[in-house]
Amino acid sequence: MKNEFSIADLYKNKPLGKEITLSGWVRTFRSNRFIALNDGSTAANFQCVVDFEKFDDSLLKRITTGSCIRVKGIITESIGKGQPIELQVQTIEILGDSDAEKYPLQPKKHSLEFLREIAHLRPRTTTFGAIFRVRHHLAFAIHEYFNKNGFFYIHSPIITASDAEGAGEMFNVSVLDKKNIPLTENGEVDYSKDFFGKEANLTVSGQLEAELLAMGLGKVYTFGPTFRAENSNTARHLAEFWMIEPEMAFYELKDNMDLAEDFLKYIIKYALTHAADDLAILDQRLAEEEKSKPADQRVMPLLEKLKFVTENAFQRITYTDAIDILLQSPYQKKKKFQFPVEWGIDLQSEHERYLVEKHFNSPVIITDYPSAIKAFYMRLNDDGKTVRAMDILVPGIGEIVGGSQREERYDVLLEKIRQFGISEESLWWYLDTRRFGTCPHSGFGLGFERLVQFVTGMSNIRDVIPFPRTPGNCDF
Ligand code: ATP
Ligand code: MN
Repeated sequence: MKNEFSIADLYKNKPLGKEITLSGWVRTFRSNRFIALNDGSTAANFQCVVDFEKFDDSLLKRITTGSCIRVKGIITESIGKGQPIELQVQTIEILGDSDAEKYPLQPKKHSLEFLREIAHLRPRTTTFGAIFRVRHHLAFAIHEYFNKNGFFYIHSPIITASDAEGAGEMFNVSVLDKKNIPLTENGEVDYSKDFFGKEANLTVSGQLEAELLAMGLGKVYTFGPTFRAENSNTARHLAEFWMIEPEMAFYELKDNMDLAEDFLKYIIKYALTHAADDLAILDQRLAEEEKSKPADQRVMPLLEKLKFVTENAFQRITYTDAIDILLQSPYQKKKKFQFPVEWGIDLQSEHERYLVEKHFNSPVIITDYPSAIKAFYMRLNDDGKTVRAMDILVPGIGEIVGGSQREERYDVLLEKIRQFGISEESLWWYLDTRRFGTCPHSGFGLGFERLVQFVTGMSNIRDVIPFPRTPGNCDF
């Protein structure tokens, strides 16, 4: 039987005097009298008061941390502090026992590393309940924002035959018999015998396909899984992650930046209003974690940071100016950067963090990167050496958005494809859009988990997706 009122409903509606049943998982059972019950609808537990004299000892013993129970009783005002209302229990039914000796989640603080090893149980903790509810609200806000602003949600393919992005290593999709792989005369894998008749991979980005849709529907976005087999064991890379990729006809670089900034502010504000309780819990969690750090390494409190981001303009600078700032910085003078700074380098995480956390202390949009370090499809500037790229960097995470105005000129694009050593035959359909009714257009990719990290204040990306996939990890 489903809950007529979830715990979230109960706190909202306060149906005093009403008889209800409530199912949930026991967080704690104090003094044989107070059950703290949680049903996942909100972070707050519901206090269920048991008159132990009315129940069998054998039943009470089964009310352990982790067990699942259904109680029936009357909602009354709570005399105790800590909760406005509570339930006076009349009947108790055990739905699922949980051996207190063996249950891995004890009512105490566990390390995030330990909880990662029991990712199947961590949704039952206060922290992960809060994270995954915030994740939901952010996803919902993203669809709401685009829907309100005239964008169409499209589904780009997950299996693809183009490695046009060059964004990273790809996961191969093949049904060839691994024990008997067909080879060509040159000794290479003969993919013509494979399922699709050619080599296929899991997508690293839906952008190229989104561009095709934008040239028919105007403004579109994707929100789907992407896969990168890059062997980077960092706190901000996953092998499987979700990406949001809007693509807009007629948008130029500035329109693109304005959209990205407005969009990020909207979804963060949405979370601040719709997930206030969960964010308060995460704010508290972060504050406690920060206490153990030396004062000069502490980050801005979570809620303060989020409000700051929604209320202040993002800084906008060119790559060339960013390099100048780095070269003039005290870090450079004290030789604190591990990787040398000069025009043309791909900014390393330490450089990005310096700009965002030390120099600007706010989100920063960096534009006009050297052509050589960015993807082939970015529009070449008149200087012939930079492209209309824009990356958004945020404190604590670094790059959260990567985008650009796209190269819409057929000749320039073809030249770039050749320079980058990409097979033009494999991109015939992409090039076609530049041959038939081409138009200026732009778009960007937002890594969803990086956004969730930023909003929840979690420092490891493995803690913001229910079941993370990273090199060597594919459990659950
Ligand atoms: P990075 O330099 O951090 O690896 P990238 O330049 O490879 O990022 P893009 O190809 O521009 O990233 O992808 C767009 C967005 O997707 C990034 O801004 C980031 O938010 C996110 N992203 C990229 N790679 C990953 C990953 N392995 N795991 C999670 N998110 C990612
Ligand atoms: Mn990358």
